[in-house]
Amino acid sequence: MDSNERKTRIVKEIKVDTKKCAGCKACEIACSAFHAIPKYSSVNTARSRIMVVMDEVKDVFVPIRAGDYAQAECNGRNKYVLDGKEYEECTFCPASCPSRDAFKEPDSGLPLKCDMCESDPPLEKPMCVDACTFDALTYEEREEVIPVSKPEDVQEKRGEMKIGLEMLIKKYGFKNVADTVARLGKKG
Ligand code: SF4
Ligand code: SF4
Ligand code: SF4
Repeated sequence: MDSNERKTRIVKEIKVDTKKCAGCKACEIACSAFHAIPKYSSVNTARSRIMVVMDEVKDVFVPIRAGDYAQAECNGRNKYVLDGKEYEECTFCPASCPSRDAFKEPDSGLPLKCDMCESDPPLEKPMCVDACTFDALTYEEREEVIPVSKPEDVQEKRGEMKIGLEMLIKKYGFKNVADTVARLGKKG
């Protein structure tokens, strides 16, 4: 295979303007309803893949979308100073991490991650963006040129997925993981 071979992919982004966020939590409600099984059958913001970190005294509202699962707490952390108040890195961290309850499926404890509301047929824009009437969230798509994966890269990715799954099974037990995968696999 030509090592310079390139292809394009669509990168989906949600831009967050924290100055516009009013802390209404409509994004959390919309996300949890979309991910309910069946779809839209219930609202439980504990199932949301977006969380609005609020400091009402300082009028600070920061929507955070769930990122990757962190197997362990990290040691070297940053601190953020906003309007003179210091915040721990954990406050704005998108990880589902052992150090806290955020971004964990309430029944199973399994990690939640933003999937950009992938669905068939696709949505025009993600639910949280659609629900945000304050324009704090805006959706953008852009094209990115990337190298074509070599077979060994694909193999490596599969290896990473296997290790990720093994970690989850070790932590939450096979039945929990299998039940959740089966439940999520059911179309809403
Ligand atoms: S819906 Fe928009 S304004 Fe409301 S909390 Fe979410 S991001 Fe903030
Ligand atoms: S929540 Fe994030 S910053 Fe805090 S320990 Fe976990 S991974 Fe590190
Ligand atoms: S993009 Fe979809 S899955 Fe991600 S946080 Fe927004 S509503 Fe939830």
